[in-house]
Amino acid sequence: RALELRHVEFKQSRKLSEVQYDLRGPVLTRARQLEAEGHSILKLNIGNPAPFGFEAPDELVQDIILGLTDSNGYGDSKGLPSARRAVVQSYQTRGLTGIDIEDVYIGNGVSELIGMVLNALLDNGDEVLIPAPDYPLWTGATALAGGRPVHYLCDEQSDWAPDVADIEAKITARTKAIVVINPNNPTGAVYPHQLLADLVEVARRHQLLLLSDEIYDKILYDEAVHRPTALYAPDLLTITFNGLSKTYRAAGYRMGWMVISGPKEHAADYIQGLDILANLRLGPNVPVQHAIQAALGGFQSIDRLTEPGGRLWEQRNRTHELLNQIPGVSCSKPQGAIYAFPRLDPAVYKISDDERFVMDLLNAEKMLVMHGTAFNWPAPDHFRIVTLPRVRELEEAIAGLARFLAGYQQ
Ligand code: PLP
Repeated sequence: RALELRHVEFKQSRKLSEVQYDLRGPVLTRARQLEAEGHSILKLNIGNPAPFGFEAPDELVQDIILGLTDSNGYGDSKGLPSARRAVVQSYQTRGLTGIDIEDVYIGNGVSELIGMVLNALLDNGDEVLIPAPDYPLWTGATALAGGRPVHYLCDEQSDWAPDVADIEAKITARTKAIVVINPNNPTGAVYPHQLLADLVEVARRHQLLLLSDEIYDKILYDEAVHRPTALYAPDLLTITFNGLSKTYRAAGYRMGWMVISGPKEHAADYIQGLDILANLRLGPNVPVQHAIQAALGGFQSIDRLTEPGGRLWEQRNRTHELLNQIPGVSCSKPQGAIYAFPRLDPAVYKISDDERFVMDLLNAEKMLVMHGTAFNWPAPDHFRIVTLPRVRELEEAIAGLARFLAGYQQ
């Protein structure tokens, strides 16, 4: 007797109703469609160094190859002790005290660790302060964990510094943590000493967990100096994130780490929660962990790229210079990372829907940037462009953008 098939509709869970991550959304689908039609698209939308000819340092590759034969078993669920020791030593060298390898967790990218940290922390409705603009994974992961992302403004007029008064105004009894992204994606800001001290002071006054995403900590231009937030907060529970994706141009390796510092005796229960989640995912990819020691202990080849005359330095300069030459476009000079976040003057360009703007630019010029509201920026007047392509390619792209903007109205 033939089974009568009853078709059930499979729907996404309600957990996803508040989760948004536009960086890989509908505009990218359209770009793929254009590619399938034979167009070549310049992708200035994702901070992925490899497609632009950046190679991972050879010593990392060699250490993975050497470690490969010994990597087919599950490793420690928090990560290999040797890799975690390398992370501890790198932070000790930078002046962070009171940490050992039990305070370090390795993840399949910082992304995985962000999810773990928020899932272990948040009850439904708990709030997390996240910058606007942000790296939107923080917002999406907060919502997925049942939390409520609350965005604090960064001020373009002050080199995109977080507005400390806005942070204070947005703290409630439900606020659990504050996210600091320094050097910043998407603005390129690198936070000065006093600002970090002020941010930490707010966290101190309100007893917030500090979550400091420092994945661009070595991609610095000119005189910029990066200071780990944790150094300002020996008396506060702080989690610092970093990884191989950007500084070491190995985003595809999916490898990141985090270190917990500050007074852990009041956080035993939370840390136990993190351990449960670390166990639940069984552990990070083993072979790639062999690259961590070489990365942290070795010569920092990123320096050659960011110093005057270096490839990333030149590309950052040219992007900044050319964007500011377009009427109605202004852009502060990124001090770190691999992005620019220019403003489209609303008095010049009538844009009510910035995702449509990005889609129109894609269709007209076959180039892909990201709309500012994808970074939880509240107005449709910014976009993000990566500074990874070679200067000649950037020049062509920005010329295309200028051409497109000249006649653009919504
Ligand atoms: N944090 C920031 C600020 C980022 O910009 C990115 C990637 O763009 C990540 C984290 C994700 O890092 P990973 O590749 O280690 O998951």
